[in-house]
Amino acid sequence: MPLKIFSLNSLVPAAIVDSIKLNSLLPEMLRPVRVKQKLKHTNLMLAGFEVEVTQKKIKHLHLKVCPPNGTVRISAPLHLSQEKIHKFALSKLAWITKQKKRMQIQPQSKPVEYTNAETHYFRGQSYCLRIIENNKIQFAELRNNQLYLQVPEGADTEIKRAVLDAWYRLQLMELIPPLIKKWELKMNVTVKHFSIRSMKTRWGSCTPKTGRIRFNLELVKKSPECLEYIVVHELAHLLEASHNNRFKELMDQYYPDWKLYRKELRSVSL
Ligand SMILES: [Zn+2]
Repeated sequence: MPLKIFSLNSLVPAAIVDSIKLNSLLPEMLRPVRVKQKLKHTNLMLAGFEVEVTQKKIKHLHLKVCPPNGTVRISAPLHLSQEKIHKFALSKLAWITKQKKRMQIQPQSKPVEYTNAETHYFRGQSYCLRIIENNKIQFAELRNNQLYLQVPEGADTEIKRAVLDAWYRLQLMELIPPLIKKWELKMNVTVKHFSIRSMKTRWGSCTPKTGRIRFNLELVKKSPECLEYIVVHELAHLLEASHNNRFKELMDQYYPDWKLYRKELRSVSL
């Protein structure tokens, strides 16, 4: 996936924490008073480009190349010296350069407006959007190779997006469980829970410790093979947490063409 988390101690990715925070469910008054986090912002130069460094109370180094401009950001533990951060960034230079290059050659996709005849995708196929304004019920459906979206009269982009995304989510909720079943049996692993989310930087993620897997809603627009590749990829993390050689061997064993689909997914920006 485009975003990688590098850990200081080992190559095992830092545990992915579920984004649901209990605090956010508490009313304002009941929330514990949080001590302001200590932050240190610096910039460092690396092979002619600037890297934004934020040091805070964390245990591991995180590095990301952010779309659309390829800004490089590093989060580092407070105590770590600039020299060590620079060394770390330098060790990732080849990867950073590759990511930056990829973002530059990517054409800026024009914003989706949900207008009649606009092209939308499902399972790797393109469909022409047909908007029906009707105050009765809101739904989306595929009919005669077109994607119909029934929305209230005068609905704005946000409402149209919500109706279509709800439909997309429903489709993915039906498509994923049989794939999980199939690969659980083949790989002899157990998925405890899966969820679908809109994510900006990854196609999926897995917390091996808890057996929880998250899938990006955007996968519903990709080919069935790409969706299956991500299912196999995330299930493989239940056997191997990091993207090391063992992980690649597992992927070769279970989904031999995985590199092809990885390339396909990497060719689009999220
Ligand atoms: Zn992975």
